[in-house]
Amino acid sequence: MSKIVFFCIPAWGHTNPTVEVVRRLTSRGHQVRYYSFAPFREKLEEAGAEVVLCDGALPPAPPDLDRKVGKDFTALVKMVTDTTLALEEKVCRELEAFRPDVIVSDSVCFWGKLFAGKLGVPYVCSTTTFAFNQYSAQRMKPTKGEMIRSLLGMPRVGRCMALLRRDGYPVHNLLDLIQNDNETDTIVYTSRAFQPVAETFSDRYVFVGPSLPVRKSEEQPAKTRPLVYISLGTVMNQQADFYRTCISALGKEPLDVVMSVGEGIDPASFAPIPENFQIERRVNQLEILSKADVFLTHCGMNSANEAIWYGVPTVLNPQQSEEAAVADRMEELGLGLRLKDRSNIREAVFQVLANSEYRERTRRMGETFRAAGGAERAAEKILACCL
Ligand code: UDP
Repeated sequence: MSKIVFFCIPAWGHTNPTVEVVRRLTSRGHQVRYYSFAPFREKLEEAGAEVVLCDGALPPAPPDLDRKVGKDFTALVKMVTDTTLALEEKVCRELEAFRPDVIVSDSVCFWGKLFAGKLGVPYVCSTTTFAFNQYSAQRMKPTKGEMIRSLLGMPRVGRCMALLRRDGYPVHNLLDLIQNDNETDTIVYTSRAFQPVAETFSDRYVFVGPSLPVRKSEEQPAKTRPLVYISLGTVMNQQADFYRTCISALGKEPLDVVMSVGEGIDPASFAPIPENFQIERRVNQLEILSKADVFLTHCGMNSANEAIWYGVPTVLNPQQSEEAAVADRMEELGLGLRLKDRSNIREAVFQVLANSEYRERTRRMGETFRAAGGAERAAEKILACCL
């Protein structure tokens, strides 16, 4: 039996793909301890992990934390440094007693990587975005705003690196922290076929495809009209104006629309709601995708993976550079149509519905996902890296 420790940032998109991996490990009798945060506890415990909550170590959240962590790299580095330093005494003490055989840490949860380095425990990087190296980075062009914020934030990043070095972490510069070289054992939750410049990654990288919960295939009731699903994900989703534009674009059309608007917006605020719209704070996205005909998405990596898994073609509406890279790849592979302008929502949705090529190419890409091995292969990779 192996002892496996996971670390992740407080985000659904980064936590969700690891849940099934945890389940595979614990069901084989391995012991999993997961350093996470209150909202994720129940789901991780249900998969068999012992959850240690790190909420108290998070720096006080500025009101716009979600926006900052998504768009402002300096804010992310500062958050990571503060969290690492706040956690280190407790976690290093606990891990020295627990003696894990491997540490699995999300690619942007740098504290897991830092603890593994400091304690000399094998480290596996869990990557829920595209795998990142100097070649794929060229595809993630930062927006002008992101670039300016990064430049202005450089001195602050330098101070964070100095603080980490003071506490014994071998980080010389930012690259040491974020870089993942070809020698790092890495799990990527997509297929090689979908990963841009996949040939530049060594075989230490395993592209396992999406790690989704097993769903019973249900008898689908016959549909009378196409189903459109709209979501901007779980982070930067407070965009009431965008949702209103969707309602006016599609409210009178011969379509059914399910729109997930996020926990922060009251669906009733959109009243009067057209009869063809169902508006929710959160939906079971996999269930909706299993019957949707088109997905208007912000191109978060999980949403893109899930759409492809279910063969649902997309209208692409990225908000930030990482999502733009996903949208670029989907456009390049002919899996979706980019929304150039909000006034174009109706046309874009009908264009994707009318052209069966989008659906067919998406379905074929989904086959590469199914062949990639999923959570089972990720679990095998982790076990192969144990001490
Ligand atoms: N999700 C969900 N219900 C919703 C909206 C989102 O279950 O109403 C899930 C979705 O299936 C995906 C995750 O939340 O697994 C969103 O991750 P993604 O990487 O797409 O975007 P993020 O929220 O990180 O921007």
